[in-house]
Amino acid sequence: MTHLTDIEIAQQVTPKPINEIAQKAGVPEDALDLYGSYKAKIDVRALQDQPASKGKLILVTAISPTPAGEGKTTMSVGLADGLSYIGEKAMLALREPSLGPVFGVKGGAAGGGYAQVIPMEDINLHFTGDLHAIGAANNLLAAMIDNHIHHGNALNIDTRSISWKRVVDMNDRQLRQIVDGLGGATNGVPREDGYDITVASEIMAVLCLAEDLKDLKERLSSMVVAYNFDKQPITAGDLKAAGALATLLKEAIKPNLVQTLEQTPALIHGGPFANIAHGCNSVVATKTAMHLADYTVTEAGFGADLGAEKFLDIKGRMAGIRPDAVVVVATVRALKMHGGVKKTDLKEPNPQAVKDGLPNLMRHVDNLRQVYGLNVVVGINQFTFDTQEELDVVLQACAEKDIPVEVADVWGEGGKGASDLAKRVVELANQPQEEVRYAYDLDTTIQEKLDTLVSRIYGGNNAKLLLAARRQARQLEELGYGNLPICVAKTQYSFTDQAGRVGAPTDFDVTIRELRLSAGAGFIVALAGNIMTMPGLPKQPAAESIDIDVEGNITGLF
Ligand code: ADP
Ligand code: MG
Repeated sequence: MTHLTDIEIAQQVTPKPINEIAQKAGVPEDALDLYGSYKAKIDVRALQDQPASKGKLILVTAISPTPAGEGKTTMSVGLADGLSYIGEKAMLALREPSLGPVFGVKGGAAGGGYAQVIPMEDINLHFTGDLHAIGAANNLLAAMIDNHIHHGNALNIDTRSISWKRVVDMNDRQLRQIVDGLGGATNGVPREDGYDITVASEIMAVLCLAEDLKDLKERLSSMVVAYNFDKQPITAGDLKAAGALATLLKEAIKPNLVQTLEQTPALIHGGPFANIAHGCNSVVATKTAMHLADYTVTEAGFGADLGAEKFLDIKGRMAGIRPDAVVVVATVRALKMHGGVKKTDLKEPNPQAVKDGLPNLMRHVDNLRQVYGLNVVVGINQFTFDTQEELDVVLQACAEKDIPVEVADVWGEGGKGASDLAKRVVELANQPQEEVRYAYDLDTTIQEKLDTLVSRIYGGNNAKLLLAARRQARQLEELGYGNLPICVAKTQYSFTDQAGRVGAPTDFDVTIRELRLSAGAGFIVALAGNIMTMPGLPKQPAAESIDIDVEGNITGLF
């Protein structure tokens, strides 16, 4: 097999003009807003009179991953192509990459190998400018807060309580904590401040959960940015900012249409963090794809304990959507890690370690089936160094527990490599499912919701709220935010709050340090451990290997 890089594979394929893809997807011409030849925004209001098709939704999630990622995006793209390959009308709904990881460690987020969305250069770099618009809206609000204080602070804002940060779409640890407003009376009011990466902005989460412009405005208006000296919340609405913020986002709220290497239509829209936010693409894009296609494939970030849980308990519950089938992506290498193998030795064949790692996969599968009552299939993302013996261990274990399972080589073969998985997904998605249920009820206390997540989803005992978090819980409940869903910000590498505790640990508590209110997005973030909202670059960032020649050909993106 050839070993072309992702960008080389992507550059070998000439994309179809995007209006052809739109036509294939059933998007009428007047709903299309072209961004060059291969990208377009969709004005979803122009779709409304079309007969509503009730497309099936396929959620792609994963076992607890290794730091390299287990291929959810790659498998999502491959599965959508696999569905097209077997003759189904499929569409993708995925997150948009952030520049931080593109130039940092992880690289872009447009799939890999022969399962990619294109033009990958554009998708990974600036795309249609949505992240810029979100950054601008975020920073306008930041400017309005400080301007309000500069001009007399009529709202009596306690500057020490300002939680609204400025953002930039870059991994730049230098900006994490700053002091601004220096330089005397004409230059603002000095205070401690800081930057987050744009995708960590609440505005990103708001954009992704908003149903339409009206809902967007309401959510923007209710975002809490600070407290006054009476400890009452100050919102973007109080600062009269919501209208301007929504105006800045008028194009960003429209989903972006692109295509896969095999011309399956793909909506790439919104990319909230998977820790302090819910980690999936926009509700608008997911619903648009479901309206247009018979099968929509969508991805939730991180492992299923975080990504799928938030998709189901936050996004799905708010938007009234539910997957008809769930693919849990597993890899032999991640199973080996959960079986105790060191990260440096994961390429060595080791069927016993694969077997020892299975409890991690099984806990995720059991959660989705038993807690949520969903139809689940395990999709093994095949790597070239996997041995048949190792794959057989997974196949056999799933067969014994009556869990549907398929091996897919989408990285090497594209949609064809997922044809068995696609057939299985179609079969499962058309089977009846149990009644909708969620991991926790909204009308319980914050402590109860967290305890429920720890015991039902993570397999531990309780949530241990540190004193500060207990105080915040009481305050949030008193202010009337107690019935919001919870967005846990926890390591994705373990069911526990310790990244090193692989497998399926039992008998542990999860420590919650802090609670943060995202009132516009509509959830309370519970921070377990140190969660970075402004990442840094590694010693050798990907940026050092990225280049462009005089013809405009880019190398080094992945
Ligand atoms: P996730 O969405 O779960 O974080 P990605 O799909 O982005 O994971 O994949 C992470 C990285 O692994 C990407 O660089 C991708 O190209 C690579 N990758 C995924 N699947 C395979 C595979 N089967 N073989 C080789 N590389 C793969
Ligand atoms: Mg991904």
